[in-house]
Amino acid sequence: MTRSVTGLGMTSQRTRTRMIERLREQGIRDEQVLAAMAAVPRHLFVEEALASRAYEDTALPLGFSQTISQPYVVARMIEVLRQGRAGLGKTLEIGAGCGYQAAVLAQLTHEVYAVERIEPLLARAKLNLRAIKQFRVRLKYADGQFGIPEAAPFDTIIVAAAAPAVPPALLQQLALGGRMLLPLGSADQYLVLIERRAEAYVETRLDGVRFVPLLSGLE
Ligand code: SAH
Repeated sequence: MTRSVTGLGMTSQRTRTRMIERLREQGIRDEQVLAAMAAVPRHLFVEEALASRAYEDTALPLGFSQTISQPYVVARMIEVLRQGRAGLGKTLEIGAGCGYQAAVLAQLTHEVYAVERIEPLLARAKLNLRAIKQFRVRLKYADGQFGIPEAAPFDTIIVAAAAPAVPPALLQQLALGGRMLLPLGSADQYLVLIERRAEAYVETRLDGVRFVPLLSGLE
């Protein structure tokens, strides 16, 4: 079954515009991030029954105990990764889910790799990205804790599930001058920004967040 890209028609265009206004009010300043969020039809990435809620600032269920991240968190993470840099460069996303965040990233950079460990979700991400004609994202079915060694190094790594500690393979696959943003912790989670400099990895602790856990192995 295919859904037309116009989908909910004018309603979705209007609610998407409202989502952008809300992101501005919440403090998102990067115009290119806002434009990328405005360009991706989020309602096409969620179950049809939830499409009318796609532009609310909330996480929504994707099935398999997973959720699509709330718009503010997607925008905020990408804004932090872009701040003071020319661009995102070659980007790796861990936890592709339905492919929404990968689609937003693909609006902002040419090379996006996204890894997912739940096969039916990966299949859905593939269909969703094809439906919006986004062919720039390379999807891989794998345990993202090990990154994608054959495509490394990455200028940007963004992790959409919370780990107890930074996966060492991801540190190794971060390019010199590159940036990684990931949620750390279990009950108490916060975002950590890691910058790889010539002499060291520099870590900065940011906002408190709530993500699903980063799990091992494949489903
Ligand atoms: N970025 C997604 C949000 C997905 S929620 C979106 O826009 O829809 C987090 C995702 O991380 C889930 O789909 C979950 O299956 C995935 N995940 C958790 N642990 C993982 C791992 N080790 N490797 C790859 N994906 C993982």
